[in-house]
Amino acid sequence: MAPDVAPRAGTAPEYARLSLWWEAVPLPLPARPALTEDLQVDVCIVGGGFTGLWTAHSLALADPALRIAVLEREVAGFGASGRNGGWCSALFATSDGALTRRHGIDAMRAMRRALRETVDVVGASAASEGIDCHFKKGGTVDLVRSDAQKERALATLEESRSLGFGEDDLRWLGPEEALTLVGATGTIGATFTPHCAAIQPALLARGLADAVERRGVRLYEHTEVMEIRPGNGAGPCVVTPESTVRADVVVRATEAWTPTLPGSERDIVPVYSLMVATEPLGPDFWQAAGLGSRPTFADHRHMIIYGQRTADDRLAFGGRGAPYHYGSTVSPAFDTDRSVHALLRETLVELFPDLAGVRFSNGWGGPLGIPRDWHSSVGYDRDTGLAWAGGYVGDGVATSNLAGRTLGDLITGNDSELTRLPWVNHRSPRWEREPLRWLGINAGLWTMKLADRSEARNGRPSKTARMLGRVLGQ
Ligand SMILES: Cc1cc2nc3c(=O)[nH]c(=O)nc-3n(C[C@H](O)[C@H](O)[C@H](O)COP(=O)(O)OP(=O)(O)OC[C@H]3O[C@@H](n4cnc5c(N)ncnc54)[C@H](O)[C@@H]3O)c2cc1C
Repeated sequence: MAPDVAPRAGTAPEYARLSLWWEAVPLPLPARPALTEDLQVDVCIVGGGFTGLWTAHSLALADPALRIAVLEREVAGFGASGRNGGWCSALFATSDGALTRRHGIDAMRAMRRALRETVDVVGASAASEGIDCHFKKGGTVDLVRSDAQKERALATLEESRSLGFGEDDLRWLGPEEALTLVGATGTIGATFTPHCAAIQPALLARGLADAVERRGVRLYEHTEVMEIRPGNGAGPCVVTPESTVRADVVVRATEAWTPTLPGSERDIVPVYSLMVATEPLGPDFWQAAGLGSRPTFADHRHMIIYGQRTADDRLAFGGRGAPYHYGSTVSPAFDTDRSVHALLRETLVELFPDLAGVRFSNGWGGPLGIPRDWHSSVGYDRDTGLAWAGGYVGDGVATSNLAGRTLGDLITGNDSELTRLPWVNHRSPRWEREPLRWLGINAGLWTMKLADRSEARNGRPSKTARMLGRVLGQ
């Protein structure tokens, strides 16, 4: 493992600003080398987030002799992996109904089973690597706070039952039980699934980076990949400003940054999700707010919100709603947005009025990746030597672990239950060219916002939002 040395001037504070979670990353950061000379390895992984690191982990476990290199433009955990809401959940971007229509009911059930198991695999793998990422499996409470939300929640429950899932997967909570778990205003019920753990994501990402290094993986930071070239019989290669890496397999694990790679401009769009966090809150607050078993929480509105009680008794709360930026641009300037952060603070105070007057210590954000058909995928093409995983649409904390283990099997040629899951080798269509892409995505975001407003006004489920869901194939 690389020795601990003082970070480069300005480096640590810069990364500490990435999220509440990054503030707790131990300093100094290990000084990992940048790649400055050509390299020949068995597997080269581009991107040092959960996808890249879990893939490296699984390959190193499967075959310790494999020469594996991870190339990261910034530092491990710099991307969404170090900034997210910390829901280690069994959620999958594509709905169960859509998965069934596309792949059949058995494939959908296999996918669900694998996702549920993955929540526990993340906890167990972190523990076995000695990573304390504050893993607490308290499930998820999705509050119901209006009649329109209730109609949607009941429809979700009904669909779940019709697909063969029981109370142990998703169940209805009456208002009393819901309020015991999450003491939020306006609660008239909730749905509950046990398949989610709250985690501290930056500690997991950084701990994983150390763990893969201990297992012999070479991790190069501050190394930007300019291009991934498919193999023409001679194996693929990766080009950085100062070097070329030749490998038998190259794994693309760049999620929201994928469109910055030549040839992948329209594979995935980056959409920003933003978060805020309070200072640690006292026992009086928690007595009313509940969240004692640290379930993650949201409600059944259209524009996604998500929250967790952190291990140090803060509320960390996020939501979508930031605009999509023309040309799939990704920039640190988009990590914060005054109006979206203000709206998130307002929404949280509306849920928990006792927060009025409480100081919010952090506001941050990051890009997540959305494929055109909302269908995450993992795959490996033996002909070109190229592998990939992603398009998680904001549900990548656990799914990236499943992706990493699946890539481990695909690359080492281990035909397993994982390699037969329906998302394996799925190819999403490309996004439209601009300006259609900008118009379509932002129109969709506005539709969701307006649907929530109209439901709050007249209490009836929005038909426009339902139509949008159908257009997206959900
Ligand atoms: C604010 C926010 C909240 C979220 N909340 C949740 C949640 O609660 N639960 C959940 O399941 N999901 C959540 N997500 C999504 C989840 O964080 C991601 O799906 C997951 O972290 C993706 O992991 P990844 O490794 O594929 O991508 P990332 O973590 O984004 O990693 C990609 C890495 O690739 C590097 N990279 C990119 N291009 C290059 C290049 N050319 N050369 C070298 N390196 C490169 C980047 O620097 C980055 O470190 C959230 C996302 C955000 C932004």
